[in-house]
Amino acid sequence: LPEPRVVAPQAADVAALLPRSEAETDKYRRGVLGLAAGSDRYRGAAVLAAGGALRTGVGMLRYTGQQGVAREVVSRWPEAVVSVLDPMDPVASLPKRVAAWVIGPGRGLHPTAAAELAAVLDTDVPVLVDADATTLLARSPELVRGRGAPTLLTPHAGELARLLPGAERADIEANRLDHVVRAAEEYGCTVLLKGSTTLVAEPGAPVAANPTGTPLLATAGSGDVLAGMIGALLATGLAPWEAATCGAYLHGLAARTAHDGAPVSASDLFDAIPGALAAVD
Ligand code: AMP
Ligand code: MG
Repeated sequence: LPEPRVVAPQAADVAALLPRSEAETDKYRRGVLGLAAGSDRYRGAAVLAAGGALRTGVGMLRYTGQQGVAREVVSRWPEAVVSVLDPMDPVASLPKRVAAWVIGPGRGLHPTAAAELAAVLDTDVPVLVDADATTLLARSPELVRGRGAPTLLTPHAGELARLLPGAERADIEANRLDHVVRAAEEYGCTVLLKGSTTLVAEPGAPVAANPTGTPLLATAGSGDVLAGMIGALLATGLAPWEAATCGAYLHGLAARTAHDGAPVSASDLFDAIPGALAAVD
């Protein structure tokens, strides 16, 4: 196989890709993001992904989840529009008319989550598959390969090992570039591999190596914020490679600048996102 071409996007590249709103826009045209994240066990994942999305900018966030989690989301983010998940019929409670989906953070691996994932991947809008949903997807890869709309997978090395039969986590860590390229080819979609240098691969495109990573991001929940940030960019119309590349860039920048290099918790990133957006502009 030829060596993949690797690019390192800079602030000006990110600024050129970020969506600009027309004066005559409205909340629907600015982008409606559907979010299926969190569960009674991992409520915070929903709040973190919602905050990442709202601060990156969406016209509307439509959240679906268990009642207790939905309540938590609205109490932290009153602008979120929620529909309570019916565990007997998760598909019926999925919000309609969304421009993109984020599914998976803290969602769990139970049959309800699997049915919901199949239904979300059956829509004709871009879908970001993260965390538990990548684990579920590894059992049914055809759900992505057959899609008409774009899909973006955002695994860390352990999740990527599940997506690639025969690959061990250690193999991936030893050769991240080859494995992210292989995953993009095998699933026929965009793949963002998280880590100290986050990589974004897509068939036919160069690999983006994110230059803003910082070990400050190695903290529980920061990946959930990233999923929401990239989801917002998908909902506002960016293509998956562009959304993933810009999202990773802004996420790293937000962590570096949040507390002048002192530790950040995942929820500290919310307040740092506007500054990161302003800094690239
Ligand atoms: P997750 O594994 O889903 O919790 O996501 C963790 C987030 O932190 C991802 O955005 C990773 O790229 C980032 N991250 C984890 N470890 C490091 C590191 N050592 N340096 C830079 N970023 C990291
Ligand atoms: Mg994660």
